[in-house]
Amino acid sequence: PNPTTSVKLVLLGEAAVGKSSLVLRFVSNEFQENKEPTIGAAFLTQKCTIGSKVIKYEIWDTAGQERFASLAPMYYRNAQAAIVVYDITKPASFIKARHWVKELHEQASKDITIALVGNKYDLVKNDSGEEDDSENSLRKVSIEEGQNLADEEGILFFETSAKDGFNVNEVFIGIGNHIPES
Ligand code: GDP
Ligand code: MG
Repeated sequence: PNPTTSVKLVLLGEAAVGKSSLVLRFVSNEFQENKEPTIGAAFLTQKCTIGSKVIKYEIWDTAGQERFASLAPMYYRNAQAAIVVYDITKPASFIKARHWVKELHEQASKDITIALVGNKYDLVKNDSGEEDDSENSLRKVSIEEGQNLADEEGILFFETSAKDGFNVNEVFIGIGNHIPES
């Protein structure tokens, strides 16, 4: 059997960007249209096989509400990986994501692997499944803005949809490939 590496991972981001939905998609391959808000934090685990290595993710899914923000350090302090989520239709959530990335670089472990994730990609697709590039598009944060922030901060970047599953496993595989061998 392949050795299993445990990786502590924390999700951060504004309320309602889809943190819990990304975890639910990754862990159970499900989606709930009206997901109840997380209170405090939720803990879940999921194994992920990448080539010959098996990673057991120990996931802390935090609450995005401001009143819980002071608890976040408790969850990211010992984390080896963090996913910072924003909603590509909500510019304020991108500003919040930028703050989280900076805070992680100042306060978290030096070798933490961070992924920036722009979620709700399904909302900017048209009926033929392509991205709606008309002026009616719901997209408010461009892919370039996301990629630029990630490049500036030296972190991974993905756009995802927890609703249709687009790119969700790729986030966890990307993190797993980036985690230093221990
Ligand atoms: P959290 O507060 O960041 O954990 O966000 P939730 O996972 O609770 O999701 C907030 C709301 O957004 C819920 O109504 C979800 O069903 C919805 N949602 C989450 N992810 C997506 C997505 O990828 N696409 C769409 N259209 N809605 C989503
Ligand atoms: Mg939640």
